[in-house]
Amino acid sequence: MVNKNESLQTANPRAVLGYCRAGFEPDCAAELAAQLPGRIIHAEAGSGYVLVAPTDAYYSANRLSLDQYVFARQLVMTHQTPITLTGNDRVTPLMEAVMQLLTQERIGALSECRVEYPDTNDGKVASRAAKAIGPRVEDTLIAEGVVADASSPYRLHLFLTPQKTAWVGLSHAGRCPADLNGIPRLRMPSDAPSRSTLKLAEAFQIFLGEQADQHLVPEMRAVDLGAAPGGWTWQLMSRGLRITAVDNGALKGDLVDNALVRHVRSDGFKFVPPSPVDWMVCDMVEQPSRIAQLVAKWLANGWARYIIFNLKLPMKKRLEEVDRCRQIILDADLGGRPLQLRIKQLYHDREEVTGFAMIPSRRLRDQAQRERREGPRTAA
Ligand code: SAM
Repeated sequence: MVNKNESLQTANPRAVLGYCRAGFEPDCAAELAAQLPGRIIHAEAGSGYVLVAPTDAYYSANRLSLDQYVFARQLVMTHQTPITLTGNDRVTPLMEAVMQLLTQERIGALSECRVEYPDTNDGKVASRAAKAIGPRVEDTLIAEGVVADASSPYRLHLFLTPQKTAWVGLSHAGRCPADLNGIPRLRMPSDAPSRSTLKLAEAFQIFLGEQADQHLVPEMRAVDLGAAPGGWTWQLMSRGLRITAVDNGALKGDLVDNALVRHVRSDGFKFVPPSPVDWMVCDMVEQPSRIAQLVAKWLANGWARYIIFNLKLPMKKRLEEVDRCRQIILDADLGGRPLQLRIKQLYHDREEVTGFAMIPSRRLRDQAQRERREGPRTAA
């Protein structure tokens, strides 16, 4: 006899929905298909999302972790065929699909619900629909006792498209971000000299999370390669770090004559810090592999323990280029010291990605080991 869950599964097999920057769908889909592994179903350029069918037909949301992917902003476990929302009543079909999903996944409750849409010009149609029906869907789910269970690790996603279809799926709250559409909301500081400042602010949020204050401590020393006009230097300065800003171009605003900032007019590839610093950040516009070699050199020489760097990707084979740069950095001779490396296309990145390399201190290594053994410490 065919069990009900299996027949649901066969009728509409599983798929992973990935949200990404418009234009990066082929890279996002190729990365997902290689790592899940799986087969690409949708990777239409400009749509802002991809769909990949995992080879394992029973792949589940708790195996999807955003950290390991470069191009995806959010990952949702869903089905290959979306539901259609062409009638006047869009709430009923959405609710039916949610109930079917919960039955199939044997899940009783969800922590929260996100009604989302692609981050594209066309997506604005879906964004209007999401704003119109989102509160009604959420109220119905709360009334049914399906969402708002803080102890549930699962989050519900209803992803509406401009073609009046919707995917209904799940993400694991500990492994995927809570931000609507996978986009962190950051406020542009009024006195920062450039919008690029948001890139470094987002990098701190994504790579350091709640521990940012432990890793960015006033009086730490930093070098900013390719600093002008100073958006990244401003971020470091606002946290009280002492910065050497290297660029032949001029710094702007509050950074000129600032006691925490020393401007050095020099070539960032030739600059050598007189003594090791805590942080190096680099936003020079250069070939990605040259930047990766520079990062590898700084790590190998022990010149910095934390590095955030931007790789500009004007070429077609962006995933291959990122992999090549990752390998250059991983090949750095660190004399046996461990290295943590993550590369991610941030929301504030355009044709580029941002990397974070860290050589953890002994204290952080011990803490990470303890957390792996005993689980993370929670506040009392
Ligand atoms: N992060 C900066 C901000 O937030 O304002 C923006 C940096 S901008 C994208 C790139 C900078 O890299 C330019 O100011 C340019 O002068 C600098 N640059 C490019 N090549 C360089 C090199 N070899 N040495 C030093 N600076 C360089």
